Amino acid sequence: MIDLKDIVKIYRTGGEELTALKKISLHIQEGEFTAIMGPSGSGKSTMMNILGLLDRFDSGEYILNGENVTGLSDNQSAHVRNKEIGFVFQSFNLMPRMTILENVELPMVYGGIPAKERRERALKALDRVGLSDRVKHRPNEISGGQKQRVAIARAIVNNPAVLMADEPTGNLDSKTTIEIMRIFQELNAEGTTVVMVTHEPEVAIYTKRIVSFKDGEIQDDKIQENQVIL
Ligand code: ADP
Ligand code: MG
Repeated sequence: MIDLKDIVKIYRTGGEELTALKKISLHIQEGEFTAIMGPSGSGKSTMMNILGLLDRFDSGEYILNGENVTGLSDNQSAHVRNKEIGFVFQSFNLMPRMTILENVELPMVYGGIPAKERRERALKALDRVGLSDRVKHRPNEISGGQKQRVAIARAIVNNPAVLMADEPTGNLDSKTTIEIMRIFQELNAEGTTVVMVTHEPEVAIYTKRIVSFKDGEIQDDKIQENQVIL
């Protein structure tokens, strides 16, 4: 599903260069549920932004769902992203002036899906995350955990090949965190490949595989024999 070979990412600011990813190679198969872990500044978000085609890299090769996505233009990236990737952010990134339903419809507006089908699919995705009774609300009228569930509904509404998330529970309390991890586990059990960043070991216990970053390199990569199922 995801094949990275020797990915290098260098940030250039002023006269300074910082190599955030040092030849990262990583293979993630269809159906896996992977946590990317590591201390602050180790390159987790840089990795996730590259995986999500939100940022470019300096060298290496990225194959996503059989397609070589190395060096795509911004337009091409946006197209692949809309088709293949659902992305969930720590800060939810919902549109404040739109209703919950309109937020979830948005990726399909970009995808040119007819209005009736958009509505049906958005309602189904919202039902999937348990928010059928909040469709007319706006983001500032619901809780943080509910906002993240809206963001997950928006991320899955185009049936992406991979669901990606950068610290999706970073702004949530522990009870709400478990609700979010339960949804990820359910989606994974239904076949969705999930890759998420977390720096919290108590969140990573719910995933199947942990890839640990340190100073822009993969330090450890292990399968969790005792994944906790919610
Ligand atoms: P993490 O998500 O693990 O905390 P990041 O991927 O955000 O780590 O950052 C990795 C390194 O790259 C850090 O040293 C960080 O300061 C640097 N970095 C991240 N984003 C940028 C940027 N846009 N410009 C310059 N340096 C950056
Ligand atoms: Mg980060």
